[in-house]
Amino acid sequence: MISTKKIYHSALSDDFQDWQAELSGAVSDLDTLFDLLDLPKQAQVHTPKQFGLRVPHAFIKKMKKGDINDPLLRQVLPDTKETWTIGGYSTDPLDENNHNPIKGLLHKYQSRVLLTVTGACAVHCRYCFRQHFDYHTNQPSTHEMDAVIGYITKHTEVDEVILSGGDPLSLSNKRLKLWLDKIGEIAHIRTVRLHTRLPVVLPNRVDDELITLIRHYQKNIVIVLHINHPNEIDDQLIAKTKQLKDAGATLLNQSVLLADINDDIHTLSKLSQDLFGAGILPYYLHILDKVQGAAHFDIAISDAIRLYWQLLEVLPGYLVPKLVQELPNRPFKTPIDIYQHSNEKN
Ligand SMILES: *Cc1c(COP(=O)(O)O)cnc(C)c1O
Ligand code: SF4
Repeated sequence: MISTKKIYHSALSDDFQDWQAELSGAVSDLDTLFDLLDLPKQAQVHTPKQFGLRVPHAFIKKMKKGDINDPLLRQVLPDTKETWTIGGYSTDPLDENNHNPIKGLLHKYQSRVLLTVTGACAVHCRYCFRQHFDYHTNQPSTHEMDAVIGYITKHTEVDEVILSGGDPLSLSNKRLKLWLDKIGEIAHIRTVRLHTRLPVVLPNRVDDELITLIRHYQKNIVIVLHINHPNEIDDQLIAKTKQLKDAGATLLNQSVLLADINDDIHTLSKLSQDLFGAGILPYYLHILDKVQGAAHFDIAISDAIRLYWQLLEVLPGYLVPKLVQELPNRPFKTPIDIYQHSNEKN
């Protein structure tokens, strides 16, 4: 199922020396992207002023050539529909700006804090709820780290620290180690969690240094990957997830339900099965956050519920992710009531 993907873009292989070169070599202009995919110029795309096109070659290689509707391409392609202003979609849908006690730290859920350790992502996902987040005021510098660490040390109700962003694995190993070391000294922290898309869009990021760092870490490490479609899972990713697991990390996945990308039973059930094949358990299936510019990815809650009933039927319980929605001012991700019968778009 996976190896056929390798015939695409074989000319690109091994052009890059290491993951940081690959990261800075990410494609950021439409012409290059269309050239690589053998696609003609498209009318329905635009060049955004902020949060522009960004996609690493390794992710482009997983796309099917000549297919403008490829489910991976659609996740990164800036559609002109992004520029439409749609009622009910905001720039801060989760009201995160109100749970930001100090720079770079979100404390919204009782036992977990989320750190935005970097604003950088290897890929710009068009549905991202943080696309309007003010990262420049939310990237702690080395001395600002101490304020963050001080806050966590004081808040003994917190037992888990989530490294997020942006993407925490876009940090260098050195910088990441600095965070892990500082957090490692806080006695009441049991678990460090990383939310990342890097192993998927740039598998070389999972290098030997990172594996060693994880292997020797004294706290639990949980890695939550963001995989939305089974085509994102290939042999290279599986080799990397195996290494991460061998190093002691627990691997989970969260997906977002996206219109015409993964909103059908075949894709979603295959995604769960293929995740399991890669040693990853499905964790969350998110209803899209209502962020401005992403309305064209949204699906009706009633359709999400219908799909979920089908998933419950075809999958073993451990492969069914929790269907959730993030609502402002709720101290947890809200489970969708699957017994409601609503035909309205939420
Ligand atoms: C999603 C999220 C978490 C983690 O929630 P879990 O249910 O533990 O996965 C923590 N803090 C914030 C601000 C979040 O958005
Ligand atoms: S990797 Fe995550 S944070 Fe970065 S753009 Fe994609 S969804 Fe947003």
